[in-house]
Amino acid sequence: MNISIIGAGYVGLVTGVALADIGHNVICIGRDKEKIQNINNGKAPFYETGLDSLLKKHAESKKLQASAELDQSVRNTDITIIAVGTPTVDNKIDLSALEAVSRDIGKILKNKNSFHTVVVKSTVVPTTTEKIVKPLLEQHSEKQVGEFGLCMNPEFLREGSALEEALNPDRIVIGQHDKQSGNHFKKVYEKYSCPKLITNLRTAELIKYASNALFATMISYSNEIARIAEELENIDVQEVWKGVHLDNRLSPSINGEKVKPGFLSYILSGCGYGGSCFPKDTQALASFAKEIGIQAAVLDAVICVNKTQPERVVKLIMQAIGSLEGKKIAILGLTFKPDTDDIRESPSLTLINLLKIKNVSVRVHDPVAYTSHKETIDSSDLDFKSTIEETLQDADAAVIMTAWDDYKNLKPEIFKKHLKQPIVVDGRRIYDKNEFMDNGIKYMGVGFVENT
Ligand code: NAD
Repeated sequence: MNISIIGAGYVGLVTGVALADIGHNVICIGRDKEKIQNINNGKAPFYETGLDSLLKKHAESKKLQASAELDQSVRNTDITIIAVGTPTVDNKIDLSALEAVSRDIGKILKNKNSFHTVVVKSTVVPTTTEKIVKPLLEQHSEKQVGEFGLCMNPEFLREGSALEEALNPDRIVIGQHDKQSGNHFKKVYEKYSCPKLITNLRTAELIKYASNALFATMISYSNEIARIAEELENIDVQEVWKGVHLDNRLSPSINGEKVKPGFLSYILSGCGYGGSCFPKDTQALASFAKEIGIQAAVLDAVICVNKTQPERVVKLIMQAIGSLEGKKIAILGLTFKPDTDDIRESPSLTLINLLKIKNVSVRVHDPVAYTSHKETIDSSDLDFKSTIEETLQDADAAVIMTAWDDYKNLKPEIFKKHLKQPIVVDGRRIYDKNEFMDNGIKYMGVGFVENT
């Protein structure tokens, strides 16, 4: 099929590459001329494992192209997928980009004769497709849905493993306005054998939020338990989770072997969630719930625990080194999780600000963030170092904020060699605490406070 995708960001481009890979002709529509040129030359504008090579392959064969030409692109395709950003502004979802493209697509559909289906892939609060996208499309096309198709197709990919997940989806949810729309759009995914769930538009919209909010809830719940462990002596929250995870309902035994579902990685304590989805989606859902008269007590608590989690890391640092005044801290990790260059809403940035307010001199390292955010980092007052050793050198403590493999592989010796005092605060619980403590490191981690 011929497919246009509006928005060549994480979701739009990764989806485009995956759809080209199963044989569709895809055109990604963007606004930034340089990015468009790069995509057409096979160069992704952001870091995502495996993306560059597959993009190059499909850009060269022209199965995937990028363009700024909306009119022509929509006109020459059968399906248009909307993948523009839906940020949270003042705690509410900002639909301005979605509204603008809905108007534009409507105007183009006015003069298009063949059946065309518009698909909302951006994450939007329930009823948005019905109450905002549909009227705008109808008004500007001067047609009714039925003369064109309308679907909502939430995206579940996770940055860091986005391409892998787009190529091998665990499920496909299609919210259809009507059967004709759903049947038309379903053809796009014919080659995938995963479960496909057909729903109405608003159910598809809520599935996405319910899914993200569930994982965010598990993270904040795990961090609340960590706080309890930190306040008590002689408890390591890691052991607590080991005991919890062994429950057969969480990790069933199959053929005598315990199976550890991926879900368990969210029932672990750390310095909090970040990125472009969990913070904005939990906030947007909580605000939306209130608008329709639901208190959203659980969501509010999830958000509150997450926002304050970096403060807990500051507390651990203070427990380890005493007063922060005039101290130097080495932060390892800027991205919100490993295998991505995304620093949006990263707990590391929140921690850095908290430390700066307390007059701490902060030095930062990240294996990937600098390449993608060179200008932002250079223009900020972040003391960014290109090697781990330089970052650690003469600092009063090291704090792990992203679970990059580069950090997981570090041995106690490197901290002892470079730090002024051998103190490690593990915000992601990536180290074996016994190995560190036996080797003379003062080790603190989220959910574990070494007896002093
Ligand atoms: P992004 O910011 O990386 O990309 C959005 C792109 O849309 C940007 O490149 C922007 O320039 C472009 N855009 C905006 N208006 C446009 C217009 N009129 N014409 C052409 N391009 C336009 O955002 P993203 O991370 O790809 O997210 C897109 C949507 O998918 C959001 O609703 C998000 O919540 C959702 N989502 C994101 C993820 C994720 O992990 N990033 C996962 C699932 C769902």
